[in-house]
Amino acid sequence: MAQIIDGKLVSSKIKEEIKLEIKNIKKSGGQIPGLAVVIVGDDPASKVYVRNKRKDCEEVGMYSEEYALPENTSQEEALELVKKLNDKSDIHGILVQSPLPKHIDENLIVENISPSKDVDAFHPQNVGRITIGRYSFLPCTPAGVMELLKYYNIDPCGKECVVVGRSNIVGKPQALMLLQANGTVTICHSKTVGLGNITKRADILVAAIGKRNIITADMVKEGAVVIDVGMNKKDDGKLCGDVDFAEVEKIASYITPVPGGVGPMTRTMLLKNTLTAAKMGK
Ligand code: NAP
Repeated sequence: MAQIIDGKLVSSKIKEEIKLEIKNIKKSGGQIPGLAVVIVGDDPASKVYVRNKRKDCEEVGMYSEEYALPENTSQEEALELVKKLNDKSDIHGILVQSPLPKHIDENLIVENISPSKDVDAFHPQNVGRITIGRYSFLPCTPAGVMELLKYYNIDPCGKECVVVGRSNIVGKPQALMLLQANGTVTICHSKTVGLGNITKRADILVAAIGKRNIITADMVKEGAVVIDVGMNKKDDGKLCGDVDFAEVEKIASYITPVPGGVGPMTRTMLLKNTLTAAKMGK
């Protein structure tokens, strides 16, 4: 039976460290790190994410501001807000909650966030920096995965790492981070032929697909480390990942549950990036 990788535990430990650092900043009269979260429209899931981000900030003593704009906000108005936040000295991190309404060009918004406040690490400048290994921020979800591996002493060096998914926010940066950690990395996607033959080679398998039970036990090598980034809904409405947890748990050495695996880490890495941004801005 695999050991469960406990994302709640690891994230609470990292949050404690962040909290302590912020306490020390306050003590020494420094400026408290500040995060601005922008939401446009009424997407219920986005509202929950934004509320959680505010709670996370409060928990570690971070300053936060929330901007809830109506669905009919124009692109120009959204850009204006981003530019205002770029200039605000008490804000060190800016996060524009995805998805945005269709009439707003998400890429344009991201490109207008100051790279030094881009705590999602989605700005092309930050993406380029990650590619050459000279970065300040890493995208929260794959960075959270790397922290989980580190906590459980799982070193990707020399290992066969297979990432299923090639999105700009998870799959691609995850592959780059594993490569930087000296893993031998393969990226799979929806056009990959013979997915199971490739995943079965993996010592470390990261599933970032967004489809329930795509990774079944016959696709996993005995003793593999299995990281499930997926967040899907079961028929009963409960959350589940991309991996057939009940069966894969029997053959993997380590496995992340959903919920309670990668999810809490994503939230915590946003706080970490905001703290980093504040320290850079000193
Ligand atoms: P995405 O942009 O939809 O990308 C999904 C990727 O999976 C694509 O590269 C796609 O290939 C690939 N794919 C789809 N079907 C496949 C198949 N049958 N076989 C192999 N590859 C397949 O999604 P995302 O934003 O990366 O997110 C992935 C999942 O992670 C989602 O469930 C999302 O909710 C979850 N997520 C979780 C967290 C967290 O904090 N836990 C954070 C972010 C995302 P193509 O490129 O060929 O289309």
